[in-house]
Amino acid sequence: MSQAFIALGANLGDPAATIRAAFEALNELPESRLLACSELYRTAPVGMTGQPEFVNAAARIETTLAPEALLDALLAIEHRFGRIRAERNGPRTLDLDILLYDDLVIDTPRLTLPHPRLHLRAFVLYPLADLAPDLALPGRGTLAAWLPAVANQGICPL
Ligand code: ATP
Ligand code: CA
Ligand code: CA
Repeated sequence: MSQAFIALGANLGDPAATIRAAFEALNELPESRLLACSELYRTAPVGMTGQPEFVNAAARIETTLAPEALLDALLAIEHRFGRIRAERNGPRTLDLDILLYDDLVIDTPRLTLPHPRLHLRAFVLYPLADLAPDLALPGRGTLAAWLPAVANQGICPL
């Protein structure tokens, strides 16, 4: 069994309802078990401004799916929720990223682990801290050490 942390984000339709439904979808992933869900957070959009606020969260799962198979399963869930790929960082009904998969460090065209921007994003670090406050980020020290640097990013519990 491996453990993975998944980031969830949504900013179209009813984003909070989407995130809660996505937790359910994660619970039904094959070869996997949902272990814990973070609180939901309201966050200002990064990159493209002038779009609705995001709701973000994170989940911890146990799985025997290989990392690429897990990514495929997450992309299938995004698709089910009606995601249309448009601009990077643009509006989306649901975004599911793999943040960490055990202590795996990989960099392939389809998958980079740990997620390359996770330590720079309040909307990822705060939910992760709910799930695992003592988490170590492979190659990047502790989660707790990165939190102060993102405290100015505009995030609050829903
Ligand atoms: P960001 O990566 O900055 O959060 P994004 O989530 O908006 O941006 P997407 O358009 O959703 O980017 O994804 C682009 C591609 O990123 C995916 O098709 C996937 O192959 C690749 N990718 C690489 N590493 C990961 C990862 N750890 N989790 C999810 N997707 C990843
Ligand atoms: Ca993302
Ligand atoms: Ca993504």
